[in-house]
Amino acid sequence: MTDTNLTKTELLSDVLLNWYDRNRRILPWREDPSPYHVWLSEIMLQQTRVEAVRDYYARFLEALPTIEALAKADEDLCTKLWQGLGYYSRVRNLHKAAVQIMEEYGGDMPQSSRELQKLSGIGPYTAAAIASICFDERIPAIDGNLLRVFARMTGYDKDIKSNTAKAAALAFYDAVFPQTRCGDFNQALMDLGATVCLPNGAPHCESCPWAEHCRAKADETWQQLPVILPKAKRTIEHKTIFLIYYQGKLALRRRPDKGLLAGLYEYPNAEGTLRASELSEYLRTLGFSAIQTRSLGTAKHIFTHKEWHMTGWEILADEWEEFSPGKPRRHELFLASAAELQDVYSIPSAFAKYTKQIRTDYLD
Ligand code: SF4
Repeated sequence: MTDTNLTKTELLSDVLLNWYDRNRRILPWREDPSPYHVWLSEIMLQQTRVEAVRDYYARFLEALPTIEALAKADEDLCTKLWQGLGYYSRVRNLHKAAVQIMEEYGGDMPQSSRELQKLSGIGPYTAAAIASICFDERIPAIDGNLLRVFARMTGYDKDIKSNTAKAAALAFYDAVFPQTRCGDFNQALMDLGATVCLPNGAPHCESCPWAEHCRAKADETWQQLPVILPKAKRTIEHKTIFLIYYQGKLALRRRPDKGLLAGLYEYPNAEGTLRASELSEYLRTLGFSAIQTRSLGTAKHIFTHKEWHMTGWEILADEWEEFSPGKPRRHELFLASAAELQDVYSIPSAFAKYTKQIRTDYLD
């Protein structure tokens, strides 16, 4: 029912909040929206679907129930709890920010979106989500969902990823944003984008609370909106991956602290696709002498800007030169037991095809 005393923008916020009250998704972090819970869920939800996040969220909170516990935790435990979610810089920043909160804010999360953005890994979107949901700050949390709804509502037909589009979306939401229930309004928009104004396939305009005022619906242009320009092509890197067994353990190494999958553990690997005849020579550069090699097949992993095309080999080694006491270990290789592989070292899902082929009967 329409209240004729309301302006159009008031009406939009009113109908959306009413719709939210009847249709809101029940999510664990919404049932107990402390700043830590909202923050953790928002970081996990970046690039990851809600259904995939639920279990990780529960497991993470069970192990690290407070910001203080997170700040005191070992970084390897944090990445282990994150294993499988990908984009590991998110969990490293989460840990860093928890330390910042303990050291610089006396253990309490800052309350304004401006202050929240001083924390590691918290950008404008996450800061706005936390500040509005936990502290009722009047600020739209603009992400892909809100940009899509904005483009369709207004018929915005230019590149949606541009700064101009973001500024236009901000102005649109600023006009319709209510003075209270700011967190609910952002969450209503998130739900509208996730369940009604869908990114893939036809939007459910018939159940959209904003349908009467939507330009894309009136013009039947939802298929063209938002305008997304084609992405730059991903670069392709070829790699040869080794599962090297030596004295009942598997060789691993830690990736550099900066760049892709920074600070995580990986199987030794060489740039390029080595031929079978080149394996022994390469393994000698790592100090290993191979007594048996077996192909583990090829695998592909797609990151945002690059693809890894991998070829894997299982290696049984009977000697490791670098293992001699007192000698420095080239390439920072080390050996991990079955228990350490299970509980301590996080191997990114990029290597999943090879992780699945680890022979536990070769390990102590
Ligand atoms: S009417 Fe349809 S296209 Fe417009 S915002 Fe609602 S779901 Fe999206």
